[in-house]
Amino acid sequence: MAKYDEQYKELLNRCKEVNTIGSCAGLLGWDERTYMPRAGAASRATQISYLSGLAHEKFVDPRIGELLAELEQSPLVKEQFSDTAVNIREIRHDYDKSVKVPKELVEELSHTRTMAQGIWAEARKELNFPKFLPWLEKIIKLDLRLADCYGYKKDPYDALLDNYEPGATFETIGKVLADFRKDLVPIVAAIIDSPKKPNISIIERDYPVERQAMFGQSAAAAIGFDFSAGRLDITTHPFCSGIAPGDTRITTRYNPRHFGQAFFGILHETGHGIYDQGLKHEHWGAPLGDSVSLGIHESQSRMWENLVGRSRSFWRHFFPRAQQMFPEALQGVKFDDFYFAINDVRPSYIRVEADEVTYNVHIILRFEIEHAFLNGEVKPSELPGLWNEKFKQFFGITPRNDAEGCLQDVHWSMGYIGYFPTYTLGNLYSAQFFAKAKQDIKDLDEQFARGEFLQLKKWLNTNIHEHGKRYRAEKLVEVVTGKPLSHQPLIDYLKSKFGELYGI
Ligand code: ZN
Repeated sequence: MAKYDEQYKELLNRCKEVNTIGSCAGLLGWDERTYMPRAGAASRATQISYLSGLAHEKFVDPRIGELLAELEQSPLVKEQFSDTAVNIREIRHDYDKSVKVPKELVEELSHTRTMAQGIWAEARKELNFPKFLPWLEKIIKLDLRLADCYGYKKDPYDALLDNYEPGATFETIGKVLADFRKDLVPIVAAIIDSPKKPNISIIERDYPVERQAMFGQSAAAAIGFDFSAGRLDITTHPFCSGIAPGDTRITTRYNPRHFGQAFFGILHETGHGIYDQGLKHEHWGAPLGDSVSLGIHESQSRMWENLVGRSRSFWRHFFPRAQQMFPEALQGVKFDDFYFAINDVRPSYIRVEADEVTYNVHIILRFEIEHAFLNGEVKPSELPGLWNEKFKQFFGITPRNDAEGCLQDVHWSMGYIGYFPTYTLGNLYSAQFFAKAKQDIKDLDEQFARGEFLQLKKWLNTNIHEHGKRYRAEKLVEVVTGKPLSHQPLIDYLKSKFGELYGI
């Protein structure tokens, strides 16, 4: 036993070393996107790629393979969900993926991604899809090669999806998303047809940036973000970076003529931040101290942003405070009008600006297309036509150009095929978790109306965050809610909330 304990210790130490390097790269990345002078970009790319290469080299060390092979024969893996078994399982998962990809492919992918991203940005600006097309073709070919290296049972898509949502397959999530789509499209149609519309001019008034910052920060603190172990800064594309225990950084951007963009963005990133702060410090650097998947991470951000942050009870507490903070914009505004305005639903071309209902339709469209790419059902050259046709079918409108259509997102240029569904998975998980939290904590809405959010935060800490990677997403949902993932909780939530608002 002593032998295995030593080997396990060595494995974890090696894993922690890799994660320490990764966390240094993470801090450099945060700085790059917040305060670094623009002229530093080339040096920063060198620094980050040096650290990433170093971390990769350390992780594919054959010694890690030896240790895993020994430990997999040991009593440490006997209990499937014990701390030791989980760490060994997840390190094996990542190790196998890392060693399966030849260095030559890693380099070609990285080079192609950097080039393709630049070309994509130009093509989008010039509304020139043909310019991007050869790069998209190349990316898809390389992603297929990557999938072949990883290996898969049925569908190359599964191999790539596993990078973002470990263990998920097209078959399992495709079924949930298809069922969800069937129920969602009529809800969107009914909302569009409803004569009831909010007055959104209420939230498009002057909202001074310094006061938005104070208000946003106070809300982040109220829902449980620990500012003694985190910060909020300004950036162009908001993100959250969980750098290390005691250091979780969220970012936002302010629009002086819009109330919601920064505020809900802050709640969203705070949700990610609360997850990172809720991971167990003593497991840092090992899988047990890491988040489950992108989808589960997104479930946390979406819950605070939408299910909590756009709820009536949340605003019972915050609306009077918003009126005090922004008297010029909000004096005399009725609660119900404000609540309707922040829950405006309308079809729009751009995913990142979409509301909480139509957002999922944007994702399902991308999910269907990228899966068809990989299976050869659709050629990259057919993308603009296919996009517009599906868009018309889903939303009843057609993008006026490809910047509003198939060229709007950066993901495919970066080779991130399999990433998009994690956004909607996040929404599905969040609704199912939240329904369970409401069952467990009977007076949740009353608590929110009093400005009390810490019981929900604690519930999330205990039921989700503190497990780290103990359970894969699919299993975690069952452990927490007692049921497999279903689209029903999200549909129920959307129907009840928007049914009332839009009279449908
Ligand atoms: Zn997010």
